[in-house]
Amino acid sequence: MKIVLQNLTKAFPSRNKKSNEEVIAVNNFNFEIPDGKLIGLLGPSGCGKSTTLYMISGLQKPTSGRIFFGDDDVTELSTENRGIGLVFQNYALYPHMTVKQNIMFPLQNLKGQDKLTKEQMLERTQEAARLVQIDGLLDRKPSELSGGQQQRVAIARALVKMPRVLLLDEPLSNLDARLRLQTREEIRRIQQETKITTVFVTHDQEEAMSISDMIVVMKTGIVQQIGKPQDVYDDPANLFVAKFLGTPPINVFEGRVKGGMLYVGPDAVMEIKGVSDQAVTVGIRPEGFVPDENGPLKCKPVNVEVMGRDVSVVSTHEASANPFVRSIINADHKVNPALEHVRYAIKPHKIFIFNKETEERIYFEVK
Ligand code: ADP
Ligand code: MG
Repeated sequence: MKIVLQNLTKAFPSRNKKSNEEVIAVNNFNFEIPDGKLIGLLGPSGCGKSTTLYMISGLQKPTSGRIFFGDDDVTELSTENRGIGLVFQNYALYPHMTVKQNIMFPLQNLKGQDKLTKEQMLERTQEAARLVQIDGLLDRKPSELSGGQQQRVAIARALVKMPRVLLLDEPLSNLDARLRLQTREEIRRIQQETKITTVFVTHDQEEAMSISDMIVVMKTGIVQQIGKPQDVYDDPANLFVAKFLGTPPINVFEGRVKGGMLYVGPDAVMEIKGVSDQAVTVGIRPEGFVPDENGPLKCKPVNVEVMGRDVSVVSTHEASANPFVRSIINADHKVNPALEHVRYAIKPHKIFIFNKETEERIYFEVK
């Protein structure tokens, strides 16, 4: 099921009694979510992810704009009639019911044409439980399950009605690191098996990048960029997106373009074409540094952290916006942290420049 968001906007009255200014939680969101894909809705806390999801689910009414499932305008449709499955951060299972009863619960309320026999309900319940691999736990109570198992029950409960759309709001945030990894792979597998169009909300860029067909990066209610995870990482539209994606994060410097030369502080790092003279903000991905004794970027090493295949070199540079510059380099290169300086060449596709005021990307060609 394709989902179309058309000029979707949600304004809330201010919570601050002294000001009448409203909060625009979601600001003119336009996107056509392709059928059968998993979309990661990504951004820092308060950027409007949950509000977007609640509008798709019908839990909240948009202030303006429309929502379509396929060709159906569902904007005025109630949550029950949208054919969606919802999963939240806190699993919200019924504690006094068994796993089986919890999963089956949504089926017991089906009325009219949709009403199922007891056998049909059991069959669907077992199928959903099998899909999330908890079919061995059907007679337990939620309190007898781990957090990861409880979240699987919640996912099975969302799937049992065979929804047209699956909506997940930070479903992994209550799990510990290992379970989080495992459960996100599970969600990906289930989504690929069922082919249900899925919107997955998270503030964790790695989580969104690793399982999404496409990601939507939001900031203060405004969509910043939409694309395949790798494309957005490789080609960020602005400084916010460049900084939000990637661990360790991108290194940010004060820079300047002068006479076709790109400077990072005093270092003339690259000859470029197509950019007029101006002060710029420069971003260099950690994997963009290549130790080179004739390289133009001169850093002062502080520490070398061995990570096996790679080493992480922590250094300083006078034009860095952060206290430290982090570069990830192949362990074959030996960097001596006791050296006065380490020089780097910069991989051209790993360096971005941004307008100093608007923080929008400035595109350039390497000469
Ligand atoms: P996220 O899920 O990305 O953390 P939300 O969608 O929950 O963000 O919130 C977006 C913005 O809308 C925030 O500024 C939040 O304070 C505000 N907001 C959310 N719900 C309400 C509400 N019911 N009333 C007033 N403001 C709200
Ligand atoms: Mg939220």
